[in-house]
Amino acid sequence: MVQQRILRAVIMGPPGSGKGTVSGRIVKRFGLSHLSSGDLLRANIKAQTELGLLMKSCIDQGQLVPDDVISRLILTEMRSIEQSSWLLDGFPRTVTQAETLDGVCSVDTVINMDVPFQIIKQRLTSRWLHLPSGRVYNIDFNPPKISGLDDVTGEPLIQRDDDTPETITRRLRSYEKQTQPVLEYYRSKGMLETFSGTETNKIWPHIQAFLSKKLFPQNDKVVGKA
Ligand code: ATP
Ligand code: MG
Repeated sequence: MVQQRILRAVIMGPPGSGKGTVSGRIVKRFGLSHLSSGDLLRANIKAQTELGLLMKSCIDQGQLVPDDVISRLILTEMRSIEQSSWLLDGFPRTVTQAETLDGVCSVDTVINMDVPFQIIKQRLTSRWLHLPSGRVYNIDFNPPKISGLDDVTGEPLIQRDDDTPETITRRLRSYEKQTQPVLEYYRSKGMLETFSGTETNKIWPHIQAFLSKKLFPQNDKVVGKA
């Protein structure tokens, strides 16, 4: 029988690069547990937890929340998935967070979605979200079957408070300043796998092939089972 290895992966990329969409496909195709820092924070805001209320203005302004707050939140959630293969999305976003993560587990691979900033700006303003699941739609190239409603549950879609042009600019700036050094951090450890492109559907087959090799290395040796 072909065994699936345990894989601990991080997905990185600027806001709107397609991390959420690709994560959804990875979960569906390979069954990894998915942990998205943005989804977790938005769930806290929606539930009006103390943490959510404290972090909302920070997020709405396009700033990063403090390292210790997000690290504690993510590491707590990770306890329930530590026995399985997982995919972290949106964490780590600073070198401090990457070092904190290294202190508790070893990451096997970092998928870097490299999408030009110009493309991203257009995308984010036409993005709609199903809040409970994190499913993302885009009215230009990936619309829901029924306008304004989630395909799976039929529940209403929302636009994020931080998807305004000014906030997007600020998020891209913080990505350059605070998150690009994390790419260097992983690159220097030989863990970074970069996938470049302007369309998620064109990037996805490459990511899928890469993960297949990582998860089923024995398939490489079996003729006809590539
Ligand atoms: P995308 O929705 O395309 O992934 P994004 O990367 O900007 O775009 P999220 O990951 O959903 O968005 O995060 C939304 C906001 O939550 C960030 O702008 C930031 O304020 C906060 N946030 C999320 N993850 C972190 C983190 N690891 N460290 C600090 N702040 C974070
Ligand atoms: Mg996201």
